Amino acid sequence: LFPVITVDGPSGAGKGTVSTLLANRLGWHFLDSGAIYRVLAIASIHHQIDPNDEAGLLPLASGLDVNFEPAEHGCKVILEGEDVSDDIRTEEVGAVASKVASLPSIREALLRRQRAFKESPGLVADGRDMGTIVFPEADVKIFLTASAQERANRRFNQLKEAGHDVSILRLLADIEARDERDSNRSVAPLVPAKDALIVDSTELTITQVIDKITEFASS
Ligand code: C5P
Repeated sequence: LFPVITVDGPSGAGKGTVSTLLANRLGWHFLDSGAIYRVLAIASIHHQIDPNDEAGLLPLASGLDVNFEPAEHGCKVILEGEDVSDDIRTEEVGAVASKVASLPSIREALLRRQRAFKESPGLVADGRDMGTIVFPEADVKIFLTASAQERANRRFNQLKEAGHDVSILRLLADIEARDERDSNRSVAPLVPAKDALIVDSTELTITQVIDKITEFASS
């Protein structure tokens, strides 16, 4: 069977950057599970299905026509033949994604699709419940976190670089609200797996985080 490294944690902790680097370095597959929830969110908007309508969303989730195609920077996300790589990254889609992600039957319907990413020679899986629910058998589990203030700072800098004018206090409030919702939801709450290494990236560089993970993986 193929090895799996799971990287879970709250948004803005650096999971995406760290797991992509790790997957590239190892030459393994990469699963961005958040992108799957985001794609479902876009599909629900296209098909005009309310994000709280669990029964209405279920057929969409089960038959979701999504493909991840390798591209120069990361990968392209194709929904029903259309490139939605940029569209899925907006705050609006993130908010809808977090609603559909709180529906138990929807999470269940997406399990097999996520597990299918476990292929030769190995997989790095990025998400919230990779180590607890989707790949409980994973060889190496990481829970990557950072203080809410630091995550707000990072997001602020990203948005500023992209030319967006945002309030850091507003970002911090959004992050704290999302943490609260993700940690307290009844299905797949955001908690570290019992056998996960908890890495607090607040005062670490990306290289330092990767070094910690590599050291843990080889111990
Ligand atoms: O990580 P990202 O921000 O792209 O995820 C979008 C939303 O999908 C998150 O806010 C979270 O609620 C949900 N999600 C989840 N389980 C995962 C990945 C993402 O519930 N494994």
